Amino acid sequence: MSNVPVAVVTGSNKGIGLAIVRALCKQFPGDVYLTARDPGRGQAAVAKLQEEGLRALFHQLDIDDLQSIRALRDFLKEKYGGLNVLVNNAGIAFKVRDTTPFAVQAEVTLKTNFFGTRNVCTELLPLMKPYGRVVNVSSMASSSALGGCSQELQKKFRSDTITEDELVQLMTKFVEDTKKSVHEKEGWPNTAYGVSKIGVTVLSRIQARMLNEKRKGDHILLNACCPGWVRTDMAGPQAPKSPDEGAETPVYLALLPSDADAPHGQFVSNKTVRTW
Ligand code: NAP
Repeated sequence: MSNVPVAVVTGSNKGIGLAIVRALCKQFPGDVYLTARDPGRGQAAVAKLQEEGLRALFHQLDIDDLQSIRALRDFLKEKYGGLNVLVNNAGIAFKVRDTTPFAVQAEVTLKTNFFGTRNVCTELLPLMKPYGRVVNVSSMASSSALGGCSQELQKKFRSDTITEDELVQLMTKFVEDTKKSVHEKEGWPNTAYGVSKIGVTVLSRIQARMLNEKRKGDHILLNACCPGWVRTDMAGPQAPKSPDEGAETPVYLALLPSDADAPHGQFVSNKTVRTW
């Protein structure tokens, strides 16, 4: 078993994820895994970094596929005995002009952004080594979507006692409510992406609380963040930040020094803790 520290970035064959891997290759003292659902796209991205003189390793990971997540888990357990840095970056967003019915957009978006990210956490968080760092890439869209929720929902999503099961029930209810076309009546905002990212931010707050309760002595720091508005296939060419600039906050959180005890359980953008 290798004693080398290991970092994993989900959805990193392009966009912000690729830029996070690039920065970690330069700054993280260990093995950095670029992961992708499609091995061809993943290997091509590894080759691109190699041309830049950087050495990333590859492992397949489709966060929609529990078998794929578990294969990565078993690989990390066997080869490294755990994991030092996990960046949950993989995500999807329908374009504004997309005419796919809203209920389908809700189901598909929540499946990857919330349920897929949660499944990765369920399988990989138990592997986190002491002083591990976990970064869940959310979005400012989570804050604005929170503002668009009913007072009752806002109270639940800001609660310091909400459980993961309760959050899963709420995310499931959103999808069900869109199918019945009652989501607005039920207090939800009209954004599937925004609600999926509420899920990611609230999940991060819950996970940090659980780490405090169950693994306090391990000094693991876990946060959600927004990379900013970044020029990628998701956000388009008009966005102000380059992918490397978008990687700055996630990488800052992934590399918080071992003597840091904060931020933890926060929503961070531009390296600054935001009020949730
Ligand atoms: P992007 O260029 O579209 O890249 C998304 C990445 O996620 C791709 O590598 C994609 O792989 C991967 N992915 C999607 N579904 C996956 C799955 N089921 N399993 C594994 N990988 C999957 O988007 P981006 O702008 O870099 O976004 C990265 C993260 O930042 C997302 O979580 C996004 O919500 C968040 N974010 C972005 C912005 C922005 O302005 N760009 C702002 C706020 C938050 P494929 O190539 O196979 O599709």
